[in-house]
Amino acid sequence: MNLTDKIANYIDQKSSLYKNVSDSIWGFAETRFDEVHSADLLCETLENEGFQVERGVANLETGFIGTFGSGKPVIAILGEYDALAGLSQQAGNPHFKPIIPNGNGHGCGHNLLGVGALAGAISAKQYLQENNLTGTIKYFGCPAEESGYGKSFLARDGYFKDVDVAFSWHPGTVNGVMHARANAVINATFKFKGRSSHAAASPHLGRSALDALELMNVGVNYLREHIVDEARIHYAVTNTGGLAPNVVQAEAEVTYLIRAPKPNQVKDLYQRVLNCAKGAALMTETTVEEHIVGSCHNLIPNKTLEKVMHQHMQDLGSARITEDDIHFAKEIYSTLSEEEKNVAAVQIGKETAKKLADKPIIDFLAPLPEEPFFMGGSTDVADVSWNVPTAQCSTATWAFGTPFHTWQAVAQGKTAYAHEATLLAGKAIACTVISALENPTLIENAKAELMERLDGEIYEALIPKDLEPPKSTKAIAGIMA
Ligand SMILES: [Zn+2]
Repeated sequence: MNLTDKIANYIDQKSSLYKNVSDSIWGFAETRFDEVHSADLLCETLENEGFQVERGVANLETGFIGTFGSGKPVIAILGEYDALAGLSQQAGNPHFKPIIPNGNGHGCGHNLLGVGALAGAISAKQYLQENNLTGTIKYFGCPAEESGYGKSFLARDGYFKDVDVAFSWHPGTVNGVMHARANAVINATFKFKGRSSHAAASPHLGRSALDALELMNVGVNYLREHIVDEARIHYAVTNTGGLAPNVVQAEAEVTYLIRAPKPNQVKDLYQRVLNCAKGAALMTETTVEEHIVGSCHNLIPNKTLEKVMHQHMQDLGSARITEDDIHFAKEIYSTLSEEEKNVAAVQIGKETAKKLADKPIIDFLAPLPEEPFFMGGSTDVADVSWNVPTAQCSTATWAFGTPFHTWQAVAQGKTAYAHEATLLAGKAIACTVISALENPTLIENAKAELMERLDGEIYEALIPKDLEPPKSTKAIAGIMA
């Protein structure tokens, strides 16, 4: 039996285990740094499969590493399991129907992500054991991918230093290997402090923190014309200083995401945004305190590993899709706006998109792109990709056109086709892990490509050295109880 058949067998034999773990994590729907039950379940499953699990790594309460085997090479498989706030939705319902209004939901499919990676790690372990191969498989339980930057903390604290190559995947609407780059980002908060006063009786005695915040934003909006093309800056006001217009606001807070293609550019841009904050404080006679709360590097693709992963995906073929799957996917597809459908059609080509209207689950493999696809957003996989060659794939867990972070993605998180596509991702990861285990030249070539792409630059975390990851609010509540 060849490698892909063997791995596919291992994974299919345990498919009900993977389905159960994924569905449980979907139900827990725990947001960043609070993934207590999700992490526990993944840890227990790894322990039952003979992995040694270290919990609470890098001071991340819900971060862990499951290790199997010994010696070189050391191969990392990255799993995520955090949900999103405000995206509660019934599974299998093609109409918007939250289970809990404003509750959490797996709108990015990380219940599937963590389990596809798990299937990859467990099946690679089975293959390693049965064939007496030398090497170490590490499942990295990476919490808080959604604006929490779990992997950046792991990378900053040196957890990838002994790793040779890393693999992951992401749920989506296409089957393919990602050849992508993404922006580096600094997430910072700016807290202004002024002096309150009666806004009508004694306005001259007040100094408005809200004025300062608004002037900072105006300054940044003028900055936009003079920044590098692919940079992105966006903000949310997280504290307006109160609801009463007749009280001069003594405090106000804004959180910024500052993105640019390179870490040095993002650092430079951060200083310029900080200057806007300082200028605004000076103008209004208020003070400002800034804090970096998270950050990550730009994503570095690795064609050497991606080609091998792509070949394995070709050999594996598509995931199983039934008539029931198509029926439900069509219902979901019909809820998408024309604009959403058009955006999806542009990505895949108008002709192919037309055919997909009747059967909106993609069953073919996208070619590996020549040039990396640019994602304006950011991913903390980037910090791993600066340390070790990293490859990722995507499989069609959702109906064609389904946007990320939507109720439609949550509704599809427990479907049979999402499960099948998750298993396919696990198979693609495991096969590529085995290729790396059996072929030291592949790892050497992948490392050489990374060196070439870094062009002399050395990884230095954008997260400040002394920044502690946030604690789980569940754990804190537990202590207080
Ligand atoms: Zn995601």
